Amino acid sequence: MKKIAIYPGSFDPITNGHIDLIRRASKLFDQVIIGITQNSNKTSFLSIEDRIQATSTALSDIDNIKVLGFDTLLVDFATEQNAQVILRGLRAVSDFEYEFQLSGMNKHLNPNIETLFMTPAEQYANISSSLVREILLLGGDISAFVPQSVEKLLKTKL
Ligand code: ADP
Repeated sequence: MKKIAIYPGSFDPITNGHIDLIRRASKLFDQVIIGITQNSNKTSFLSIEDRIQATSTALSDIDNIKVLGFDTLLVDFATEQNAQVILRGLRAVSDFEYEFQLSGMNKHLNPNIETLFMTPAEQYANISSSLVREILLLGGDISAFVPQSVEKLLKTKL
């Protein structure tokens, strides 16, 4: 049986922290599916098409990944993709409460799917998509936080 993990998130935009996690997860699983949420209640900075494109480009050198958008229940999306694992990132204690609640809910909805947490390398622990957007909008330098292709795309949105 192929070991498949889903890494879900908004990826608005994908950052070097996300990429660090995906790169390491791609060595542990046969396939890692990056599931980009198309949540209509949450307004995003980049469109779903741009987020899929930016994520695919940023990860183009990793073979065993797939980038997909989804707007269904995460456990249903995981089942549909034959994934056994939901992958989430933990940066700091502040992430814990929300992630703990989310994993509990998902376990209740489908006990067969495990949530696994990974932490990024130290230098990526302070990066978040929301901070990247804020720095961008205020004219700051985001080059240390996102790949060049993502920086270029973000600048066209200003
Ligand atoms: P969401 O809106 O679902 O939180 P994000 O795209 O912000 O989506 O994040 C997706 C996942 O990646 C979450 O589990 C988040 O904690 C994790 N994550 C975000 N930034 C980093 C980072 N710099 N290092 C490791 N994990 C991260």
